[in-house]
Order: sequence, then structure tokens, then C-alpha cells
Amino acid sequence: MTRVFNFSAGPAALPEPVLRQAADEMLDWHGSGMSVMEMSHRGKEFISIHAEAEALARELLAVPSNYKVLFLQGGAIGENAIVPMNLLGDRPSADYVDTGEWSKKSIKEAGKYCRVNVVASAKDTGYTTIPKPETWKLDPNAAFVHVCSNETIGGVQYHFTPDTGNVPLVADMSSDIMSRPVEVAKYGLIYAGAQKNLGPAGLTIVIVREDLLGRALPITPSAFDYKLQAEADSMLNTPPTYAIYIAGLVFRWIKARGGLAAMAEHNQAKAAVLYDFLAASRFYRSPVAPDCRSLMNVPFKLADETKDELFLKGAQARGMIQLKGHRSVGGMRASIYNAMPIEGVQALVKYMKEFEAEHG
Ligand SMILES: *Cc1c(COP(=O)(O)O)cnc(C)c1O
Repeated sequence: MTRVFNFSAGPAALPEPVLRQAADEMLDWHGSGMSVMEMSHRGKEFISIHAEAEALARELLAVPSNYKVLFLQGGAIGENAIVPMNLLGDRPSADYVDTGEWSKKSIKEAGKYCRVNVVASAKDTGYTTIPKPETWKLDPNAAFVHVCSNETIGGVQYHFTPDTGNVPLVADMSSDIMSRPVEVAKYGLIYAGAQKNLGPAGLTIVIVREDLLGRALPITPSAFDYKLQAEADSMLNTPPTYAIYIAGLVFRWIKARGGLAAMAEHNQAKAAVLYDFLAASRFYRSPVAPDCRSLMNVPFKLADETKDELFLKGAQARGMIQLKGHRSVGGMRASIYNAMPIEGVQALVKYMKEFEAEHG
């Protein structure tokens, strides 16, 4: 068996020990005689898996006691609609910061439910920056302020937590949740699809401050009403049981490695290998402003775009896959989430050097 270095933006690489444990437990979880996939979500076995996953998520993210942690379905794109449905209450508008492809999607979807104020946009820099918070035209009467903490496609990331005063801050953290410590208390709501950093596709994690519950518009589907789901321990409908189980194993893996502070250190070291190389190279470059660069998704360009296909072929031949950049950005993108070992980034840089020596 050969495992590749998988630089996919998502669904993405998972820690190998997690996959091995899941394989070991596939036919018979802890003497139950069943796979986790076959369990009732209301049985004691699955209840214990669910409870441990939630407890670990709370512990790792240091979630204060006045926040609910929900394990839902629908993905982050689903949340683009579910968030306004739940948080608008009687307010007519919400504030959105536009930092790239994912915030544009959030803005478009929210527009179906409310007036959207785009309070700042990085459009004029080609989405290579995060607009300075002093320039944001925040509305004190907005229902909430929405940001995307890490733009998976453009490779820009917030390296500060915005201060939105009394207006709840909402963040799409799909591609950087659990990559670093986060001050949950500064947010009203955090959401993330699991398939970048937490586990398999199908699970969406929502962390919501309790005082924001109970404002859902009457049209909100019950399965997506945070208050109803909070009251039902995320089991108003059948939750994505297997995805929750795998996420729980990922949480254990993160904890065993020292938690989020250790993950952040590891992720900084990994990203530095690549960014330092890009900075020194004349053949490759990062399109993103230095103070906004993502530690999770690293887009880079070759000086000669006609060599892109050749570069990708050579990478594939060396067991490094999914390096093609998103069509809206072009070039390459290396996604280096928690589960990517530093050896993967070192192997990529070694190949980039060889490719440059031959074709630069
Ligand atoms: C991947 C991603 C999404 C989309 O998630 P789905 O699970 O496909 O709905 C949304 N936002 C960000 C930041 C992402 O990285």
C-alpha cells in the first residue's frame, strides 16, 4: 500500500492513525458486534461516541459554557442560508465582509433572506488581502457581522479577531477550525463543514451563543433551527453518525498531539517551509499579501504558466496530488491542513526546487 501526500482543499487528508483505528473498529466497535455505521443514533453506544466528540470539541476549542455545540448536516453552504434564517430575528439586514469566493457565496445566499450590507471588500486587490478593520462600515443595527476566517480558494486568512461591539460576529471557519486556538467568546456563532480539518464530509459543526437561540424565522426548517437542535442534543433528526465518530477520533488525535496551541505551532512551521521558499524563489511566487497569508491553503504561481501542466504531472508521479489551483485563481494551491505532515511540505519544496532547476 502506498499513501500519497494529498494536498486537496477538501475533502482533505485525514490523520493516518485515525484511519487505521477506524479500519480496526469497522466490523465490531468496542465489542458491540456492530459497525458505528450500523448503530442506532439513540442507542447507548452511539450516545457515548457523540458525547465524547462534543466534550472533546468543547475542550479543544475552550468553548465557554454559555455556548451550544451542534453537530448538524447541510455543510457550510447550507449554513449560508441557515445562519440568516436563525439570527435575523426582526432585523432587516446583516453585515458581510467580502474577502473572496467563499464570502461571495455567503453574501449571495444571505441576500435571499435579508438586506446584505457589504461593509468591506478586498475585490480591488484581487482578493489578496483582508480589508483593514478601521475601514469597515459597520451598521450598529445589523443582525450580525459575517466573515470567512480563511478563504480556502484565495488563500487569505484573518490573523486577528474583528471587534464588532454588540453586534454578534459570525465566522465561516470551515477551512481553519482547530488549526489554531480561537477566542470563542468573541464570536456569536462559528460554523464549519468538517471535511477540511475535522473529518469526513457530511458533518457541520455549529458553535452558537445561547442568547442567540430562539430567533429563527418561522420558515426555518426544524432540522436547521438551532434552538430545536440544541434542545434535542443535535438529534432532532438522525445526525451524520459515522462522520461524528471519525471527527471524535480526529479530536482525540489533536488532543494527543498537544491541542490547538501545538497544532498552531506545527501549522506555522509547515507553512513557513513553503512561504520561505516562495519568498526566496524567482520562479514561483505567492499572490497573497504577506500579512494575510493562509497557513492552511497556499496558492502559488509559476513564472511560466505554460509549465503548469508539466508541474502537476511531475508532482503526481512523485506521489503529490491535488495541487492544481482553483480556476478562479489559477496556478497551484497546496492545502496543508492539520493532517498534512511536515514531510509532505518538505517533499513538495524539494520537488519545486528540482522543477525550477530544470525548467526555470
Ligand atoms: C469548503 C468550504 C465551504 C463549502 O462547504 P460545503 O460543505 O461544500 O457546503 C464553505 N466555506 C469555506 C470557507 C470552505 O472552505
